[in-house]
Amino acid sequence: MPEGDTVWLTARRLSDALAGHTLTRCDLRVPQLATTDLTGRRVEAVLPRGKHILARIEGGATLHSHLMMDGSWHLYAPGERWRGGPPHQVRAVLGTVERVAVGYRLPVLELVPTAEEDSVVGHLGPDLLGPDWDPVEAVRRLIAEPGRPLGEALLDQRNLAGLGNVYKSELCFLRGVTPWTPAAEVPAPERLVALAKRLLEANKARPGHITTGDTRRGRTHWVYGRADRPCLRCGTGVRVAQQGPAGQERVTYWCPRCQRGPAPPTV
Ligand SMILES: [Zn+2]
Repeated sequence: MPEGDTVWLTARRLSDALAGHTLTRCDLRVPQLATTDLTGRRVEAVLPRGKHILARIEGGATLHSHLMMDGSWHLYAPGERWRGGPPHQVRAVLGTVERVAVGYRLPVLELVPTAEEDSVVGHLGPDLLGPDWDPVEAVRRLIAEPGRPLGEALLDQRNLAGLGNVYKSELCFLRGVTPWTPAAEVPAPERLVALAKRLLEANKARPGHITTGDTRRGRTHWVYGRADRPCLRCGTGVRVAQQGPAGQERVTYWCPRCQRGPAPPTV
């Protein structure tokens, strides 16, 4: 699942390539948009909202896409070979005279009136990388369900928009609490929220979601993806478990020594 910083960078690259230019090519390969033709219309802006991408098209339309687990947008020069996956995974092609944007494996691709963008992103909490960022409101939402495990509350885009599974595990580590700690028992939640903002800002212009400050391979994360390997701080084996309501479990990593709070029993 792409994190908000990945979506931010994708939207910025799309904006750099398309905004202000007129579409000369439009091919939307989902049934409900198969006959939609946006050629001749200018792309006004491409904006990230949490993990959603909104491409505003002249004439009051917004093309909404979401990358979900493994969607991506790639940019090419006209005539350049596309390399984002096999042709049957292409969901959208938007071209100008100079650039071609190709959307692969987009599970969400729809056209909504620009005036009604709230129908697709209005449910989101404060956007960590958005112009409306509001840390006080983010804290309020994060602890609004006092008994909810922190890991679940951090992933809920209605609380904070932009965090995915990597930052969930890393934030819990950096604040010294397990992902099963009840939200209302997290010490200084305002510091947790401020840290989330700092991490996404630090990573938004580069790939990798680096939380350790160390860009070396295998050193970029404290616990995420490190099951049974030594914690980078204390050397204890990092643990891994599934967390979340049935059917929505997400893999979660933590250090049993550096992080305090409830955790599932060792199996
Ligand atoms: Zn540790």
